[in-house]
Formats: sequence, C-alpha cells, structure tokens
Amino acid sequence: MPELSTDLYGTISHKLDALKPSGIRAFDKEVSRIPGIIKLTVGEPDFNTPEHVKQAAIKSIQNDDSHYAPQAGKPELLAAISDYIKQTRQVEYDPASEVVVTVGATEALDATLFSLLNTGDKVIIPTPAFALYFPLIAMTGATAVQVDTSADGFVLTPERLEEVLEQEGTGVKAVLLNYPSNPTGREYPADVLAGLAKVIAAHHLYAIADEIYSELVYGVEHASIASMIPERTLLISGLSKSHAMTGYRLGYIAGPAKIMKSILKMHCYLVTTVTDSTQAAATEALVNGLDDPLAFRQSYEKRRDMVIAGLSKLGFEMATPEGAFYIFAKIPAAFGKDDEQFARDLASQAKVGVTPGSAFGAGGEGYIRLSYASSEADIQECLKRIASFVEKIAE
Ligand code: PMP
Repeated sequence: MPELSTDLYGTISHKLDALKPSGIRAFDKEVSRIPGIIKLTVGEPDFNTPEHVKQAAIKSIQNDDSHYAPQAGKPELLAAISDYIKQTRQVEYDPASEVVVTVGATEALDATLFSLLNTGDKVIIPTPAFALYFPLIAMTGATAVQVDTSADGFVLTPERLEEVLEQEGTGVKAVLLNYPSNPTGREYPADVLAGLAKVIAAHHLYAIADEIYSELVYGVEHASIASMIPERTLLISGLSKSHAMTGYRLGYIAGPAKIMKSILKMHCYLVTTVTDSTQAAATEALVNGLDDPLAFRQSYEKRRDMVIAGLSKLGFEMATPEGAFYIFAKIPAAFGKDDEQFARDLASQAKVGVTPGSAFGAGGEGYIRLSYASSEADIQECLKRIASFVEKIAE
C-alpha cells in the first residue's frame, strides 16, 4: 500500500517511539534465522496443557459460553483463585472485591502499574529482572530505579532496600519483586521477605509481587510477601507456567479492595474481560489441580541439574536456582566480558540460542540466561555444542 508522508509519522505516540523494542525478542528473532539452531531462549513450559483442562475449555465452547463474562472474572473462577491463594499463601481475599482475572500475568502487570503509578513516581526493581517491567513503567511516566543485586546473590536484602530508599529520597511508591525470578531462578527466603515487608511498611510503600513461577520451586517452600503485608501487596500470578497454559492467557491480581477497584477500571479499559473458555479451563485447573502435581517440578529439577553440571564443567559460575526454569550463568573471563557478543557467537558458530544477561538490566552484564524448559535431548545436545565452542575459544 502507499506509504504516508513522514510528517504524519511524526505524530505517532512519542512515548512509544522513545521505547526500545524488547532486547530479548529482537535477539530471539535474530538467532531464530540460523539454520539448525536449538534455542534455550524461550520462557515457556514444553508440556502440553493437562487433558481435563482442555476438555473444560472445549465443553465451555460447546455450551455456548460465548458472551462477555463479568468484568472482574467469572464468580466461580474468582472463588477458585481466592481458595487457591488461601491454601498456598494463607491469606484471604474476598472474591467479589479483591481479585481480578486478567489476560495472563502480563495484563496483570499492565493494569497494576497503570493503576498505581503517577508521572514522576519511582519504582524500585531489584535487577537483573524480567525485561517487560522497564518499558511498562516508562509508559506510565514513572521511573524504574534499578538495584543491581548481583553482588548479593541476586536477592534484594532489607538493608540494601533501606540504603536505596535513603539515596532516592522522596517519590518512591512501590517495590516490584519477582520470585522465583526470571532470569535468575532465585527464590526469596521467608526471612528476607519478612525483612523487606517491614521496610516497605515503614516507608508506606506498595509491594508488587510477581509470583508467576511460585509453583515451580525445587526443595524449598514458596513464601509470599502477600501473607506478611496483604494491605500493601498487589499479588500477581497466573496459570501460564504452573499449568502449562501460556497460550490460554490467564493471570490474576489480588489486593486490597480500594486499589482493586482502580485496577478493575483499568482492566476494563484495556481488555473488558477475559475469554469465557479460558476462564472455564482455569477454573477446572485450579479446582481439580494437576493429575500429578509433582511431575512438572521433578522434570524441571532434573533438567536444571543437568545444565548446572554441564556448564560448571566448562568454567561457568552459577548459583543453584531454587525455582522457575532458568539458569543465569556467569561467562568465564577467558571467553570475554561482552555477553551479547558471546551469545551472538554461540548462536552463529555453535548453533545454540541463549539470552544475553544485559537484556535484564543492571547486573546482568557478563551473564547468559538459559531456559531449561526444553527437552532433555535438546539440553544435552546444547551442552555438547557449548563444550566444543568453548574448547575452540580456549585453543
Ligand atoms: N512475569 C514474569 C517474571 C514472566 O517471566 C512472565 C512470562 N515470561 C510473565 C510475567 C508473563 O506471564 P504471562 O504469560 O502469564 O503473561
């Protein structure tokens, strides 16, 4: 079609123009073109959605559930989410006023940040962090204050938070935590969360807790800041990772009624409501659970250990992550410090796709993120390819 003149393009949203496209997606697109590449870049389960959950979606369509659902979500799903949070986090939310069903955890983040933040507000984010947080906060007109946690094992300590608050002075509104973390896999121990909760309450801040990976923990119990300071927490989660339902797009937010009222308003402007059949599937998933609740976890844990063993032998340093399905590994000094260059060479020469650590903000430089939500065979093959790539550099 004919192109419009450039002066008209000049009127397109300046806010969006100022934002860089996601480094992760751009890199993923670039390496996807390489023939024969195996990608450990993707952050999604390699399992299929459980059969009984699929059947619930099919039944819902056949029953002509094809109308606008209530804006906050179907009452049975809101009740199921509230029950699930009570069982897993020992905190009670009123399904009628304190829960909103969203299009994935992504829309939960959109609606929460746009409801909470004003131009000029600051949000503290321990980094490296999920890259989507940065453009979203920028779009609200607020500022993301990145706190590099690489020297503290990728965990924001209460003491560090106090220091940062002192440095920043006024204007801080919220602390955005993600545990288990994408990209580091670190889980926050209960005592650290309790310390952070104290500081957050003392400074009259909000905690935004992205707990989308809370079911994928290995050998530790998931603790939630929502059970410590529920009156100040916006709890964000969903079924994408826990129930292998990324494509269904089902997330939720739970929090104090007054804030949830604004969040519901934002949610209505953004999407109106979530697809009927997706809500039916999610209700089934939460009410009847997984056939074998440990199966996903055991499988991921085995693969995690496989990657750690393989990379450690080659000189990469990494903590053993307690959750999610990512390894955040430090590139040995002998292979150069530039993570983007390393990842690019690894892709073009060894045909292994990994994500450069610097895509995740301050503290990620010099690291790579590998997702182990791929088949064991692919992981083994990638480890072999990385080994011969690294041997060649060392020669
Ligand atoms: N938060 C984090 C930390 C994530 O890694 C992701 C997905 N990669 C999301 C939120 C978004 O999840 P969803 O697919 O449910 O929108």
